[in-house]
Amino acid sequence: MTGSINVSALVLRHAAYRDYDRMITLLTAERGKVEAVVRGCRRPKSELINAAEPFVCGQYQLYFAHERFTVTQCRVTDGFYPLRQDIDRLTQGAKWLRILEQTSVEDEPAHEKFDLALQALSYLAYTQTDIRLLNAMFLMKLLKIEGIAPIADRCAVCGKSALEAEMRFDALRGGCVCSSCASNARTLSYGARRILLKAPNAPFKSVEMLATHPDWPEAAQRVNDFVRARLNVDI
Ligand SMILES: [Zn+2]
Repeated sequence: MTGSINVSALVLRHAAYRDYDRMITLLTAERGKVEAVVRGCRRPKSELINAAEPFVCGQYQLYFAHERFTVTQCRVTDGFYPLRQDIDRLTQGAKWLRILEQTSVEDEPAHEKFDLALQALSYLAYTQTDIRLLNAMFLMKLLKIEGIAPIADRCAVCGKSALEAEMRFDALRGGCVCSSCASNARTLSYGARRILLKAPNAPFKSVEMLATHPDWPEAAQRVNDFVRARLNVDI
């Protein structure tokens, strides 16, 4: 295969490559993870100077030849620039980029994950929404996209409905467990369980409503436990 493709892409990572070039890792909606060379972008007057910066997203034209992609054009649509002025929000955003890289594969469309990444970064950069809440929402939706969301409507061990039994939370067993299956698991309030059940399917903007829910910090903590146990990533 040789030729050009156009993709919607977010820069996850960059690395210096030769004197004036960079190698970038992109999350693209159309083809999942893509590695590409950006030639000359470390020269001061390069048109592609922004195209290789982490957090930059836009329409990328890539040329494929000799077994590799090269960026030929880029129309930047956002760079989430306010993140650079807040070290906590920048650190959180950088963790998301790393998780996106670790969970993405090449040659597989990733429309849902790409949309999630842009929505989460928009909230992180352009609102004052609590970072822990945004991270919980990002992770809950990401786990669902990956097909490994915590079970929240029934006991992950015996299958008993959550409506019939008091539920606890055991990340290693897959989510909620009834008290007879795991009496030593962590407690889980009704409200936090409902958040784990509903939020993964809700639009990202429902974080605004979730912010007023008294049980979101508990749900966020359980999500963190779950991600640590189930995904081999640093959160
Ligand atoms: Zn059970």
